[in-house]
Amino acid sequence: MKLHYASEPTASQWWNWRWQLEHAAHDLEEVAAYLGVEPSRFDSCREAAERYPLFVTPYYLSLAQSAELTDPILRQCIPSDEEIRNQQGGDPDALAEDAHSPVPRLVHRYSDRALFVTGNICAMHCRHCMRKRDWSKCLPPPTDDELSAATGYLADHPEVREVLISGGDPLMLPEDDLRKIVKAFSAVPSVEILRFGSRVPCVLPQRVTPRLAAILSCGKPAWLACHFNHPWELTKEVSAACDFLNRGEVSMVNQSVLLKGVNDNAEILGKLFTSLLKFHVKPYYLFHGDPIEGAMHFRTGVEAGLKIMDQLRGRISGMALPAFAFDLPGGKGKIRLQPEEVLRRTPEGVPVFRSWLGEEVAYPDGRG
Ligand SMILES: *Cc1c(COP(=O)(O)O)cnc(C)c1O
Ligand code: SF4
Repeated sequence: MKLHYASEPTASQWWNWRWQLEHAAHDLEEVAAYLGVEPSRFDSCREAAERYPLFVTPYYLSLAQSAELTDPILRQCIPSDEEIRNQQGGDPDALAEDAHSPVPRLVHRYSDRALFVTGNICAMHCRHCMRKRDWSKCLPPPTDDELSAATGYLADHPEVREVLISGGDPLMLPEDDLRKIVKAFSAVPSVEILRFGSRVPCVLPQRVTPRLAAILSCGKPAWLACHFNHPWELTKEVSAACDFLNRGEVSMVNQSVLLKGVNDNAEILGKLFTSLLKFHVKPYYLFHGDPIEGAMHFRTGVEAGLKIMDQLRGRISGMALPAFAFDLPGGKGKIRLQPEEVLRRTPEGVPVFRSWLGEEVAYPDGRG
């Protein structure tokens, strides 16, 4: 929707990421002014905004199609009183990342890949974030000592072939810091792939420039896992960002989170996943929400996710289908789930499958 500005941005201001960050909203008053509504509309959100601060660019806010709190864009960026009510079962660090860290900032959970935390600055405070516990802390970019401790660990653990560079958001780092990190990890001979995790292409696409793409790909082959949750997030600004990344030899996948009231139906997700392919982005994961304190109200239940995956199976391109997954508590790793497709076995032991149209079809699988 059209936002209300104190002074209307020019096209070059709109496409400038610094302008977007300088004009980001930090509180409910600024959001109300942009949306052209009375601040009292957000009275119920105040307590949540104090616990988990708000931060959103005009660009992302403009993707909303109404000023209602139920709008799928606003639901991802405006605090809600649900964040501080009914949060039973939520944990601030459900993935026990703090416990799987051999050296500061490095999380080594799976043998062949490790995750490096670059800082905690993001281009938006996503209301469903699993790291919202860290928003109030300040984690600056890594020092040279921290970086050499991490690369030293990786040199001693040549089984790690892939480094996930995450945050916060690594694309929010100063360019010199980002380049230093890319070069340091690329210099470890056993590291073959860098994977960046970033929501910048979605919430601040203006930040993706040919220069930034060149930094990401200045070392080992680079992949970027972005985070789109709704088809309204795919805009001409995103198209430009994806073009720069593509031409800059950065391959892309997408990780969505299944969010109640945002994208928890097959029609919306089908549209998102098929549209992502047009931007050269392969849908990779659809995550069920982690039991994070402050984000419990977004969880749908695993069954709801399986049902959506079942509705999409066979109906959209196989390339557009992500894996449906969730993280086990205590950092025990990811679980990928498929809708049940084996129905039963015939008396002769032949498995009977359920086709995408619901027919029962036996498939002699060559055993016995
Ligand atoms: C999710 C995750 C990974 C990556 O797992 P993939 O299945 O390869 O995407 C790696 N390390 C940690 C700590 C993770 O949480
Ligand atoms: S960009 Fe990622 S880490 Fe940052 S607030 Fe959003 S979900 Fe959390």
